[in-house]
Amino acid sequence: MDYLKGLNDAQHEAVTTIEGPLMVLAGAGSGKTRVLTMRIAHLITNGVSPFNILALTFTNKAAREMKDRIAKVVGDSDAKSIWMGTFHSVFARILRSEAHYLGFPSNFTIYDTQDALNVMKKVLKELNIDADLYKPKKVLARISAYKNNLITVKAYMNNPELLEADERANMKHLGVIYAKYVDACFRNGAMDFDDLLLRTNELLTRFPEVLAKYQDRFRYILVDEYQDTNHSQYLIVKALASKFENICVVGDDAQSIYSFRGANIYNILNFKKDYPDAVTVSLEQNYRSTQNIVDAANAVISRNVQQFKKNVFSDNEIGEKIKVYRALSDADEAGFVAGNIWEQHNSQQRKFSDFAILYRTNAQTRAFEDALRKKNIPYRVYGGLSFYQRKEVKDLVAYLRLLVNENDNEALTRIINYPTRGIGETTQNKLIVFADSQGISVSKVLDNLGFYAPQLGLNNGVLTKLADFWAMIKAFEVMLKTDDAYTVAMEVAKRSGLIKFLKDDQTPEGISRVENVQELLNSMRGFIDEQQQLEDGDPSLSNFLGNIALSTDQDNNKDDDQEKVSLMTIHLSKGLEFPVVHLVGLEENLFPSFMSSSTREELEEERRLFYVALTRTEKQAFFTYAVSRFQWGKITDAEPSRFLSEVNSEYIELINPATESRFVNHSGLKSNIFDDEPSVPKSFRKLDPKKKISKASDALSLPQSKNLKPVSTAKIINPSGASSQDIEVGDKVRHDRFGIGEVVFLDGTDPQNIKAKVIFQNEGEKNLILKFAKLVKI
Ligand code: ATP
Ligand code: MG
Repeated sequence: MDYLKGLNDAQHEAVTTIEGPLMVLAGAGSGKTRVLTMRIAHLITNGVSPFNILALTFTNKAAREMKDRIAKVVGDSDAKSIWMGTFHSVFARILRSEAHYLGFPSNFTIYDTQDALNVMKKVLKELNIDADLYKPKKVLARISAYKNNLITVKAYMNNPELLEADERANMKHLGVIYAKYVDACFRNGAMDFDDLLLRTNELLTRFPEVLAKYQDRFRYILVDEYQDTNHSQYLIVKALASKFENICVVGDDAQSIYSFRGANIYNILNFKKDYPDAVTVSLEQNYRSTQNIVDAANAVISRNVQQFKKNVFSDNEIGEKIKVYRALSDADEAGFVAGNIWEQHNSQQRKFSDFAILYRTNAQTRAFEDALRKKNIPYRVYGGLSFYQRKEVKDLVAYLRLLVNENDNEALTRIINYPTRGIGETTQNKLIVFADSQGISVSKVLDNLGFYAPQLGLNNGVLTKLADFWAMIKAFEVMLKTDDAYTVAMEVAKRSGLIKFLKDDQTPEGISRVENVQELLNSMRGFIDEQQQLEDGDPSLSNFLGNIALSTDQDNNKDDDQEKVSLMTIHLSKGLEFPVVHLVGLEENLFPSFMSSSTREELEEERRLFYVALTRTEKQAFFTYAVSRFQWGKITDAEPSRFLSEVNSEYIELINPATESRFVNHSGLKSNIFDDEPSVPKSFRKLDPKKKISKASDALSLPQSKNLKPVSTAKIINPSGASSQDIEVGDKVRHDRFGIGEVVFLDGTDPQNIKAKVIFQNEGEKNLILKFAKLVKI
């Protein structure tokens, strides 16, 4: 049993405890994913059929990598037969075979975020609701939250609290919008990402025979990154596992970073309650990182109140200290990082793929791309558009979607006049309105065009064009009955005029569009071949389409083998590891984000993100921050992130001891860098005392929400207008009722309307309008 040899005792226990519920709760880099992988190999080696194993991962890529490792132990064919993938991909597959229970066609379309947004925009338009007041993305996010908590339209409408909350949030029409959106998806024969989970729950609760079937099938269930499951996912796993209770979850509460998407940290914290007999294994040894990294990460995360205390240690080398670079601007920051990578690549023979640049927000990418390009350093930005989301690819895909699901109005309207064939918007609108008025789909109207023609109010020329278009689609559909998906897709690309249309554009961009379409066809060929080799494979066009709807930009990369620096948000870096990590943009308002630092819960999640970022490091970490940054169209001053001051100085080395620095100790704990680091030049310690905030609670209320614009000074204008005083952040003030306090934040640009956040010694935090507050500076 070679695969067991490389495991420590605790890992060994987790891998070989096969029956009954098991939880591995352990820190980063301690081998949780490795345990999960080896446990599956162990199950198969011990005679469990791969068909009886369900393994849920956080990304498709993780699933592929796990399968590769398992294949090394049990062979290719067994590894391929395991049901392994993300919740969405696995349950999309199940829904496809059971769709009829729910009134969906088995070839239902999966709407990606962009499709969902298009549908939502149409819904708002039809309801005559102002999309400025009801921002489509925001509305969708709210609906997503409801779906992930299994709050259906009906449940929503019957819940006075939710109705009231949305009314307070100026969203009193949300219920109507929600209902109409769900209806539109249903009529289009489509499910959005959240539906894949919601509908699975519906399937398993409403139809006991279906539940029984899958309970029997999935005798062994394993879930990686369990801390980031949402309620909907939790219920699915619980239902499926309830018969055999062979469930193994691994996770780390300190790495729960998706609460904004509905992840519920209590799923992992309550595992013991759900399964009182559960065996719990904790892994304490980190194999990934140097001691210095592990200790620094532990020190930071220990500040979170909400957490399981864990011991994590590393037996690896002590390693180098984390190097901190203070940049003058975002461009300087990027230049430093690119230069550093270049230097290490040359002097230490590191491969470019050894390096990662991790940031809090996608907007930070550009400066790094510029700097890397200047030095001819190859890089790859993760989290961008997936290959399948490119316009030209989506256009061809829309044709294919329509072939398998004629009700998919999204697809239909996308290509009915693309390439242009004289079916303009007016005509399309007439068709849609008419179809709606008859309660049928547009495709039904087109099916019976002769019959409906008199009511449509379209001239003969247009009617002929519609008839021609529809005849073409029908011909493709007929072809699909006899030919494989690839052959049909080739035919569609040619006969629809799409290829010709793209080929007419001979610019480099145009040529690459044609290549992308070619690549789509290639990937289809590959998919069909792969599925045909599987015992329970499904090479159908609808299966292909379902798969690509769920693919991310990490899933289709021709040039994966190339040596490239990885650029990604911290969220995307979860589970990964790199020899050298650059954690950039460590500034207040950026990280922690201005959107997530007003409550303790939010701030703790930001801190977990920081922990995730740092623990991706194997050998060496670099922290960078800029003192000014180009943001929102202007240059703004930036302060170092509070997280910098939370890493004890013993783990840190400043690369460019600055002449002036404003490391702010927001945590209220001893500011290590400045207080006990003798090697720091005096000048570096010159903290602006006014900037110093002295209580931990202060830090938690800072900074402000996004529409507040901080200002550094303001005038106190007494209502009488008799006198005025300048006031700035850090000033001590007296208030008639609240007593003495300190100004920690000023907000607003209109001098008549400036608000101050003041923390009073006895009364705590208050937000005051200066004009009325009668503050006296002391
Ligand atoms: P994360 O919380 O970041 O997802 P994890 O707990 O899943 O981390 P793994 O990714 O499984 O950790 O393991 C981290 C690294 O340590 C991997 O490179 C893995 O191969 C290695 N590793 C794990 N266990 C051992 C071991 N017993 N001996 C040697 N290397 C190990
Ligand atoms: Mg892992």
